[in-house]
Amino acid sequence: MRAMTVVPGRRGTAAVDTLDEPPIGQGELLVSGRLVGVCGTDREIATGSYGEGPPGESRLVLGHEGLGEVLEAPVGSGFERGDLVVGIVRRPDPVPCPACAAGQWDMCRNDRFIERGIVRGHGYGSERWRVEPRFAVSLPRELGDLGVLLEPASVLAKAWDQIEQISNRGFFLGGRGLVCGAGPIGLLACLLGVQRGYEMHVVDLATGGLKRDLVEGLGAHYHAGDAAEVDVDAEVVIECTGVGAVGRAAARRLVSGGIMCLTGIMNVDPTPDVDTTVMNRAMVLRNIVMFGTVNAGRRHWEQAVVALAAADPTWLSAMITRRVPLERWAEALRRGPDDVKVVVDLRA
Ligand code: BGC
Repeated sequence: MRAMTVVPGRRGTAAVDTLDEPPIGQGELLVSGRLVGVCGTDREIATGSYGEGPPGESRLVLGHEGLGEVLEAPVGSGFERGDLVVGIVRRPDPVPCPACAAGQWDMCRNDRFIERGIVRGHGYGSERWRVEPRFAVSLPRELGDLGVLLEPASVLAKAWDQIEQISNRGFFLGGRGLVCGAGPIGLLACLLGVQRGYEMHVVDLATGGLKRDLVEGLGAHYHAGDAAEVDVDAEVVIECTGVGAVGRAAARRLVSGGIMCLTGIMNVDPTPDVDTTVMNRAMVLRNIVMFGTVNAGRRHWEQAVVALAAADPTWLSAMITRRVPLERWAEALRRGPDDVKVVVDLRA
C-alpha cells in the first residue's frame, strides 16, 4: 500500500512509499484511509526540525489528522465495518507517568509518549492503517469528509475546557474572546467560542477574502492587520499564531481577571523580549492567568465531535481549501496564499 513518508531530521525527504499492510500490533481495527489533514507540525517535520521515527526505523509515516472508514473490527469492539473513524494522536508513555496512568496522556509528565505521525509512531497517512478501538473515535456518518477537522478541533476543545475550568476560580464575566490568527486553529477557536455564547473577535494579517468571510460567517468580528491595533478588551485571548509580538500585543487587551491561552508554538530562537517584572505586575495585580495547551485527552475528542456536529457543514467545508492526491502529497506542505486547511486524499 502507498503511504506518505519522511525521514525525520532530514529536510526534503517527503516521498510516496510502498509499504506492507499495517501490522496487527498497531491495533485491531483495520481502517481504509480517506483523508489526512496537514498542519504546521507536519511542515516542521518535513523540514527536519521536529519529529522522530518509530524505534529502529528511519522513515516515519506522516499524518496525525487522519480520517478513515472501518474495514475490519472485532466483535464487541464497539465498531463495525463502514464506521467513520478518526485515530487519536497520542499514546501513553510506557512507564507510565501518573498522568498517563490516569488516562490523561495529553498531560504526560515525562514526555516519553508516542504521537502517531509525529514522534515514535507511524501516522495515518497511508491507504490503510490500524488503530486500537480505545484510541479510535467514532463520528456521525453525516459529517463525512468534515471529520478530518476532528483532530484540530480536539486541541481547541481542550483549550476551551481549561478556560472554563479556570474561569470557575472566581467572578468571571465571560463576554468577549479575542483570537490571534485566522488559520484552522484560530477559526476553530472562534467557532467553539461562538458555540459557548462569547462575542468573538479574530485578528489576522490577511486583509480580507476567505478568512474574513469565515469569521463573519460565524457572526464574529474580523480585524485585519496588527494585533496591537485591535481596540477590543477581552476576557479570553487565544493565541494561535506562535508569533511572540502578536501574543504580547493581544495580552494587553485582557481585562483584569482575564485568561490567556497559548496554542501556537513559537519556533524562533527565544529572545529575552519579555520583562518578567512587567509581566509579574501585569499578572499578579490583575489576576491574569496565562496557560499553554497541547494535544487532547479522550474527553476533548468527544467534545470536538459534538462541536463539529453542531456546526454549519457549509462553513466547515469552506475551511478545506485544497485537496491533494496521495500521489502528490508533498504539494500539501507548501502553503498557498489562499489556503486555510489543506488535506491529502488517500484514495486518489
Ligand atoms: C498536534 C498535537 C501534538 C502537537 C505536538 C500538534 O500539531 O495537533 O496533537 O501534541 O502537535 O507534537
